[in-house]
Amino acid sequence: MHIGRYKLTALETGRFYLDGGAMFGVIPKVLWNKSNPADERNRIELALRTLLIRDDKHCIMVDTGIGENWDEKLSDIYGIDHSKFMLKNSLASIGMSTKDITDVIITHLHFDHAGGATYVDKDGSIRPTFPNATYYIQRKHYEWAVKPSLKDQASFVGEKYIPLYEQGKLKLLEGEVELYPGIFIKLSDGHTIAQQTILITDGKRTLYHPGDMIPTSSHVPLPFIMGYDNFPLITLEEKKSILSRAVSGDWILFFEHDPKYPATSVEKTEKGYRAGKPVGMNAE
Ligand SMILES: [Zn+2]
Repeated sequence: MHIGRYKLTALETGRFYLDGGAMFGVIPKVLWNKSNPADERNRIELALRTLLIRDDKHCIMVDTGIGENWDEKLSDIYGIDHSKFMLKNSLASIGMSTKDITDVIITHLHFDHAGGATYVDKDGSIRPTFPNATYYIQRKHYEWAVKPSLKDQASFVGEKYIPLYEQGKLKLLEGEVELYPGIFIKLSDGHTIAQQTILITDGKRTLYHPGDMIPTSSHVPLPFIMGYDNFPLITLEEKKSILSRAVSGDWILFFEHDPKYPATSVEKTEKGYRAGKPVGMNAE
């Protein structure tokens, strides 16, 4: 897909599983289990999808996947699965390597978004996965991540990203910014504090990456808000504003965790907002 000067590609980096009840908050299982069937441990399958935004100078990656060095216990709890997809293989399939990435926008530092930002070297030291990239996070979010709420502290694994900061690779941004022409970082506070969402537009065509504000196409309807969110009523207000703009501006929504659809349009029906037609996000 192209928007203006940028070529946009969805890259799969793996799969994992989270509790279906936690993923859908107050929504009863009879409603979500049809679209997102639970396994025998009540978990639903989720994608770990990154978005690549490329022009002739930059290769920007949004989020890094979960990463590959997890111990057996956590791999089992979260069903972390790299049998089908791995970041390096997906990059190789489009003729790229981790060295080609120039910028990494991390929406927020939860382990399923930032876990792939670093890896453990043979000598045990933690190194950036993308050696030539500048990584971006909001200062307010970084401060929250090193001192999180009891509600989302289990989602932060500091050893995956604190070394990036210490090595001077992680740039702390102060609020909303147009990072490159037509690539806007917008803030969202419902899921966690100062999450970065990304809007790419050429004035005619727009794609919006809502991060974990809307993690899958099943979360487009307004009351479908994750139990994980720190401030669900803020998520609700943010979704109202974004979805109304998405319908009027004919935006494409990107989903980092949707097991089937990398992106869809949005429709407003008699019953409220719904995900519309799937939009292709292949390499070419
Ligand atoms: Zn999250």
